[in-house]
Amino acid sequence: MWTLSNPHESTVLHRLPLRTGLGWTPAPHFPGTTPCDCAVTVTTVHPVWKGPASVPGGTRQSPINIRWRDSVYDPQLQPLGVSYNAEACLYVWNTGYLFQVEFDDSTEGSGISGGPLENHYRLKQFHFHWGAVNEWGSEHTVDDRVYPAELHLVHWNAVKYQNYTDAVTGADGLAVVGVFLKLGARHEELQELVAVLPDIKHKVSYDYWTYPGSLTTPPLSESVTWIIHKKPIEVAQDQLAAFRSLLFSVPGEEEKMMVNNYRPLQPLMNRKVRSSFQATHEGARL
Ligand SMILES: [Zn+2]
Repeated sequence: MWTLSNPHESTVLHRLPLRTGLGWTPAPHFPGTTPCDCAVTVTTVHPVWKGPASVPGGTRQSPINIRWRDSVYDPQLQPLGVSYNAEACLYVWNTGYLFQVEFDDSTEGSGISGGPLENHYRLKQFHFHWGAVNEWGSEHTVDDRVYPAELHLVHWNAVKYQNYTDAVTGADGLAVVGVFLKLGARHEELQELVAVLPDIKHKVSYDYWTYPGSLTTPPLSESVTWIIHKKPIEVAQDQLAAFRSLLFSVPGEEEKMMVNNYRPLQPLMNRKVRSSFQATHEGARL
């Protein structure tokens, strides 16, 4: 169940009857303005980017380009404590923009603590962003390097807030763990989406960057502590192809491939990116 091998056969991935536009390109930095300074002419924008909630105006928007050299090593940053229970997985659904794996967050069962976080944060959902081709797709970049996809594990602060909805708009409400996907060896756990969780826990290094940011989809709330793993996970070409074979459209509509569902880079402004590890010259080779 919920494998990536035959996405077209999965009815749950077509669960939401969302209509989409006639093809689209990623939203510009400031949706709604004339994209005169963009290299790409924005003709149509995905519906998720329409409406007042998609207009940023803050000072801590995401994603950003992480500059290895400019990030500041913080020896106070503890390793991130991760506890994921795959049995808390509820269902997978097609949001119309990406597919999302939802978890039961009524208990402390799955979540993270430590690292830059003062409280325990419960896992709410995870999802991916990816491109039409291998040359782009991740939201964050490292020294301008773009990865073909990026995994986001979204957690909320159940110590300060009653529920996820309240946490989205609250201070220190959310913590999102970002993991880059790069082309390489086949990632067997990814075939069964939920199995990726213990794998993330065991195989991904605990070196990370952290910075204060926002959601990368509307309402773009500036309530997110971002934790970006330094080490990417490897996936095979056909696994990325499985992502790209998903559809924005519903059965009966003209097919629109679900690709390029990432937000462009946002200005760092007056923010510092902290790292849990000391930068070395080998950084550029990662
Ligand atoms: Zn995301």
